Amino acid sequence: MEVIIAKHAGVCFGVKRAIDMAFKAARKYRNHVYTIGPLIHNPQVVDQLKEAGVIVKEEIEDIAKGTVIFRSHGVPFHLAERARQKGLRIVDATCPFVKRTHKFAGMLSRKGYLVIVVGDQSHPEVEGLKSYVEGQAMVVSSPRELADLAGGRKVGVVAQTTQSLENFRAIVAVCLEKAGEIRVYNTICDATALRQREALDFAHKVDCMIVIGGHKSANTKRLAEICRGILSDTHHVEGIEELNPLWFKGKLRIGVVGGASTPNWVIEEIVEGMRCIVSQDS
Ligand code: SF4
Repeated sequence: MEVIIAKHAGVCFGVKRAIDMAFKAARKYRNHVYTIGPLIHNPQVVDQLKEAGVIVKEEIEDIAKGTVIFRSHGVPFHLAERARQKGLRIVDATCPFVKRTHKFAGMLSRKGYLVIVVGDQSHPEVEGLKSYVEGQAMVVSSPRELADLAGGRKVGVVAQTTQSLENFRAIVAVCLEKAGEIRVYNTICDATALRQREALDFAHKVDCMIVIGGHKSANTKRLAEICRGILSDTHHVEGIEELNPLWFKGKLRIGVVGGASTPNWVIEEIVEGMRCIVSQDS
């Protein structure tokens, strides 16, 4: 069995930056260092941070003093304001690409465009992004959701950074038909697009795909969806214990991709586990 690992599997620039900033803050400030929600959707990294002293809290109101680290996918505007009011030290690890999306969304709303966000309504990145829009933003995850969009409006479109380009294109196409005026900012991050292209390419070449990353990670889930669209033998795993030997029976080529929040050591551990399973079987 041949195992091929994608060139761009593993943590992206923004997540690596956030992890580095969090460990640095833990070393520098030692006590009372917090995140609101897990720093990234990867339980292994969250555990390592906990050991280093970075505590996960649910709400800003749960933090009385010390340092709060903002996650790579950003925080809502009011939350940042509240942290300042409370006198907390802020370590802003929001990815610069996410900040760029905030800037475009805010600017479009101030210029009178109806801001359409292509994304998942409940994802924290989208919640943060909406807060930079003056007035209401419309969040859509599929072209169907634009059925009731009134014609002739000024429409500005941005995307959650982890969206697929295909979906973004399809939604922009509907906006083009309906809008009187349209401005489009492709805010899909290169890191995401690159991983998606590789995943698509791999899914055509192998007979089983292993997608590695947190089960709550939006970009990893998206990779799994893309692969599954081509190859039903696609499995999303978070840790080595989830590997099932039956997946590899009779397979010649296995492709491995990892989400943008998956540390390289997790990928290496899982690939090692796959090799062990196969060697025991042969
Ligand atoms: S996927 Fe892109 S936007 Fe998101 S954290 Fe990574 S580099 Fe930043």
